[in-house]
Amino acid sequence: MAKVKYYYDPETLSYRVIRRKKRRTLKYIAAFLLASALFGFFMVVAGSYFFESPKERELSRELENMQLQYDLLNKRMDDAIAVLENIEERDNAIYRHYFEANPIPEEQRRAGFGGINRYKKFEGFDNSKLIKESNKRLDILEKAIVVQSKSLDEIAILAKDKEKLLEAIPAIQPVNNDDLTRMASGYGYRTDPFTKVRKFHYGMDFTAPRGTPVYASGDGIVKRADNSSSGYGKHIRIDHGYGYVSLYAHLYKYNVRINQRVKRGDLIGFVGSTGRSEAPHLHYEIFKDGERINPINFYYGNLSASEFSELLQKASLENQSLD
Ligand SMILES: [Zn+2]
Repeated sequence: MAKVKYYYDPETLSYRVIRRKKRRTLKYIAAFLLASALFGFFMVVAGSYFFESPKERELSRELENMQLQYDLLNKRMDDAIAVLENIEERDNAIYRHYFEANPIPEEQRRAGFGGINRYKKFEGFDNSKLIKESNKRLDILEKAIVVQSKSLDEIAILAKDKEKLLEAIPAIQPVNNDDLTRMASGYGYRTDPFTKVRKFHYGMDFTAPRGTPVYASGDGIVKRADNSSSGYGKHIRIDHGYGYVSLYAHLYKYNVRINQRVKRGDLIGFVGSTGRSEAPHLHYEIFKDGERINPINFYYGNLSASEFSELLQKASLENQSLD
């Protein structure tokens, strides 16, 4: 049973029972609840400051995992960079060198992106540096791949050009000369067959019977097929491009027209003795940038090393030319 409290009433001169007011009780309860709630709230805040919640533990594990993945990606980038560096080295030292293109300098290959700060969007977080650096490296890698790819495009064009050049420049003997007996006189000082004076012979003479086929020594365009050049008689000039022109003199007959495109080995005419010539033979010259040069260096297309050295020996004999 609840304790009953009394008080003395001087007016009535008697004791009366004290009755607590209901409202007051409610007030006490509300105050207690509020205090408890505040205490609880501060405990939770303090607790969360010192201890991780399960959700936080999960998030920090996820963050650690992300950092680990970034590290792994960076390692894979290292591998990719190493492979690319090897390709770049070969590109500069072999391919570009072979096709006479300038090597691409390191600064150009490793250039990042200048100007505005492309990495601003990654700033303001704990992981900003990691993400920013990773993106920067990936950008440099991407750009280096583009530079390398462009270099290979350039090499492909140069290789095609070189192939064309090799097809164009004179590379075979202009008459069949399997046993090398047709080489009569080479490039250099020779005795003139008419005046018997020692003078420079600017071509190579191949003896052959009248009517022997004469072949184009490289791809090109027939620029002349006439006898209006003094001394050469009926002659043909083929422009091979790249500064090379070949000349075939003292012909008996033509087998091509002016401006005709010819391939190496095409039959262009027949041996004769027209012009300033002592006997039927082919006088063959090669021009490079307008200067007549020694044709001996342009027969590699159909000669073995020993044949070449035999021909070289014969061509260097200072004998009488057929002109
Ligand atoms: Zn000659």
